Amino acid sequence: MVVQGNVLLAPLTTLKVGGPARYFVEAKTISEVQEAVEFARANNLPLFVLGVGSNLVVSDAGWPGLVLKIAVSGIEQREQNGKTFFDVGAGEEWDRFVARAVSANFAGVECLSGIPGSVGGTPVQNVGAYGQEVAETIHSVLALDLQDNQLHEMPAADCEFRYRTSIFNTTEKGRYLIVRVTYALTCGGKPRLGYADLKKHFVGWKETPAFSDVREAVRKIRASKGMLIVPGDDDCRSAGSFFKNPILSSDQYDHLTKAAAEKNLQVPSYPALEAQRKVSAAWLVEHSGFSKGYTSGRVGISRKHALAIVNRDQARAADVLAFKEEIQNRIEEIWGVKLEPEPVFIGF
Ligand SMILES: Cc1cc2nc3c(=O)[nH]c(=O)nc-3n(C[C@H](O)[C@H](O)[C@H](O)COP(=O)(O)OP(=O)(O)OC[C@H]3O[C@@H](n4cnc5c(N)ncnc54)[C@H](O)[C@@H]3O)c2cc1C
Repeated sequence: MVVQGNVLLAPLTTLKVGGPARYFVEAKTISEVQEAVEFARANNLPLFVLGVGSNLVVSDAGWPGLVLKIAVSGIEQREQNGKTFFDVGAGEEWDRFVARAVSANFAGVECLSGIPGSVGGTPVQNVGAYGQEVAETIHSVLALDLQDNQLHEMPAADCEFRYRTSIFNTTEKGRYLIVRVTYALTCGGKPRLGYADLKKHFVGWKETPAFSDVREAVRKIRASKGMLIVPGDDDCRSAGSFFKNPILSSDQYDHLTKAAAEKNLQVPSYPALEAQRKVSAAWLVEHSGFSKGYTSGRVGISRKHALAIVNRDQARAADVLAFKEEIQNRIEEIWGVKLEPEPVFIGF
């Protein structure tokens, strides 16, 4: 295990803001992960677990303790009781795993193509897109429990997956270090094409698209929205969607629809959203004066996606934070809805 001092975190995130980690370790094996945890414990250092940094806002002051980047690799495929399981190291790039599954004709992750991040990051916020989420295919998670210092194989049911949440970012935040995720995938079958953008893409196709066609379509759609990391495209210097779609109480929902009607507007609604009174955060942002391409100093809204706050040029975390608050306050003032951010804030 190599311990480095004062490692700048901004380059290790997709938003490219944030100061240094006092100590930094990249752990390539489970025993290195355990060794790094011991180092943090022995030196009384606060510990932060880093994947690929695609869902992070790091403060300008950085992190005062140890940042542990989980880089455990490996993809192993096995058959058991007629099912196919993939044991994937938490440090593997998520999209590399998706590419492999899709090319071998496995269903279940095709709509999650092109999402940046590590495999270990996927259970944390139950990564999802285009009508699919990892909760549907995660069989179990192998994690080091900081409470008893033991490795636990946790079945998916124990992870309590919901929309963009699990125990790892709510009730047990900071307790588990995920070192491996096991996905159970089905070979063959039909790809998931329920999402409007995908339906539109495949209009006129006579045959059912292959998983690889869906993967290609999703990556293309994501690129058009700045939701794929494309080197040189400054609209993807972001942490992805910055706000979650809010789930409203019936009073809040009535207030919102009335306020919209007074402005001759209609809140967009899709059956999946309507059932939970979930409202499009992108619509709220765009109808509060923050259109795509809006710029506020060194930060702004992506030209391709209303929900992505982008680092236009040399922004600091303080710029991102101030802009986030400006958006939240304006939306609350106009629509009575408080948007909750999706990325994780560290060092604030
Ligand atoms: C352009 C862009 C598009 C995106 N699109 C989507 C999308 O469509 N859907 C979606 O759900 N998300 C999306 N995201 C968000 C992001 O890709 C996911 O949240 C991803 O899973 C984060 O993984 P990571 O490895 O980068 O985690 P990090 O950003 O490094 O960390 C995020 C959180 O997970 C924790 N964590 C990471 N790895 C581990 C581990 N091994 N053990 C324990 N905790 C860990 C960290 O401590 C932190 O709390 C997007 C982001 C970007 C930049």
